[in-house]
Amino acid sequence: MRVLITGGAGFIGSHLCDRFIADGHYVVCMDNLLTGSLKNIAHLKKEKKFKFINHDVTKHIKIMGSVDAILHFASPASPIDYIKLPIQTLKVGSLGTHNALGLAKEKKAKFLIASTSEVYGDPLVHPQKESYWGNVNPIGPRGVYDEAKRFAEAITMAYHRVHKIDTKIIRIFNTFGERMRLNDGRVVPNFISQALKGVPLTIYGTGSQTRSFCYVSDMVNGIIKLLKSTVNEPVNIGNPNEYSIMEFAKTILKLTGSKSKIIFEKLPIDDPQVRQPDISRAKKLLNWYPLISVEEGLERTIKWFQKKI
Ligand code: UDP
Repeated sequence: MRVLITGGAGFIGSHLCDRFIADGHYVVCMDNLLTGSLKNIAHLKKEKKFKFINHDVTKHIKIMGSVDAILHFASPASPIDYIKLPIQTLKVGSLGTHNALGLAKEKKAKFLIASTSEVYGDPLVHPQKESYWGNVNPIGPRGVYDEAKRFAEAITMAYHRVHKIDTKIIRIFNTFGERMRLNDGRVVPNFISQALKGVPLTIYGTGSQTRSFCYVSDMVNGIIKLLKSTVNEPVNIGNPNEYSIMEFAKTILKLTGSKSKIIFEKLPIDDPQVRQPDISRAKKLLNWYPLISVEEGLERTIKWFQKKI
């Protein structure tokens, strides 16, 4: 296959580039490096079947030759990034997705959109099944990401229905691993770098809010399985092992052996109180479930952060 990965220099995007190259495919990696980094793909530069294009996908996308699959991963994805870049986030989810779908139509390519558990907002149903429509504040600061991804899902389904494109929607739950930016502001890089530096871990709110964390190799397997499947409806991919943020802070302290204290800071606006994927659809339709435990994934990630710090 010849695949286009938008956001290919980002955290999940670069792991996807690695996987497609390892499987013998040709990869066109497109990124405008707004939150992605060339460091994430530097090791792929010498590969004959790898090409990097610095391009903003909110502008028309032109690719020479055939394209068999498009994986649209371009977008700021950390709350501090999308709150700082609200217009870029809305544009990449809307105009960027439209452009990527237009290319899929022209090239008769499969299309996979990276959607998110944020489409469920601050959920009133727990755990979240794909049939739940969500509870999103459309005008809050966080809504720029949630609504961009909800629009992206809507236009993806419209192109599927109208233009008969073979589209896939993956709803990605919190994912972590090597190549997360140290300063990306999410809880995993924050807690690990704080623990390793011996400074206090910053819990926002009381720490009673929950998240469920999936190691990146499991996420990549889920993406590949969905792409290869005949499934067109949205599929949740995530690890259902749910932690309160307080429990998660203690886990990081245990795994790093750090003596850092815990301090409490203000909870961001519209921060979801709970989040846990119901993965019965992924199990049934894709035979996918996570293989790496959260603690094992964290140990690998901590080693990587140790080298970076
Ligand atoms: N969080 C925290 N301390 C931090 C960073 C995040 O307590 O230093 C909390 C945040 O308020 C949220 C959870 O951890 O409740 C997960 O935040 P993250 O930014 O990783 O991702 P989200 O799931 O909110 O998109």
